[in-house]
Parts: sequence; structure tokens; C-alpha cells
Amino acid sequence: MTPAKMALYKERIHCLYEEIKADLNKNNDGEKVVELDSSIGRLSRMDAMQGQQMALELRRRKEQHLMRFDSALARIKKGTYGTCGRCKKPINAERLKIQPDAVLCVQCAG
Ligand SMILES: [Zn+2]
Repeated sequence: MTPAKMALYKERIHCLYEEIKADLNKNNDGEKVVELDSSIGRLSRMDAMQGQQMALELRRRKEQHLMRFDSALARIKKGTYGTCGRCKKPINAERLKIQPDAVLCVQCAG
């Protein structure tokens, strides 16, 4: 991969990273602990707990994404970005466009 291309990917991943990070920082409302002795009815309490679990799951996924982008940025620094972690062949550009944090090429991931 050329340094220019690498810089483009870096820029893109950095943007995505910051986006998710900002999102994680502002979006805490759904995760507040559901008060067990609150005056809301049982059904709405179950609703609230379900919503809370979904929010937590969403947050978990976003955090995983952050870690993946983080390691992609580390690979860019090392110069191994865009190279398959298993067969060491270059990862298809189309694949990197869709999934910039891809570690394996299509063949190895498939
Ligand atoms: Zn591979």
C-alpha cells in the first residue's frame, strides 16, 4: 500500500473513531440503573430494563468498534495495515473501504 493511501485510511479511521467516541460520551441516558422501588408499573419497568439492556449491548458493540479502529491505527503506524494477518497478502481495497478495520483478507476471513 502506498503511503498516500495509508494516510487516507488513517484519516478515515480516525474520523470514525472520533465519531463513535463522541457518541459514547454523550449517550448515557439509556443505561441508568432502573430503580427497583420506583413508582412506575411493572410492565414499564420491564420495558425500561429491556431498553437498558439494548443500550448496554449497543455500547458494548461501539466499544468493540473503538478497539478495532484503535488496533487498525496501530497497524497503520507499524506499516502493516492492509496486509492480511494470516496469509500476509494485501487485503482487497474494496473490502477495506467497507470495513476499514479488517484484519484478514476475504479468503482468510471467509
Ligand atoms: Zn489472508
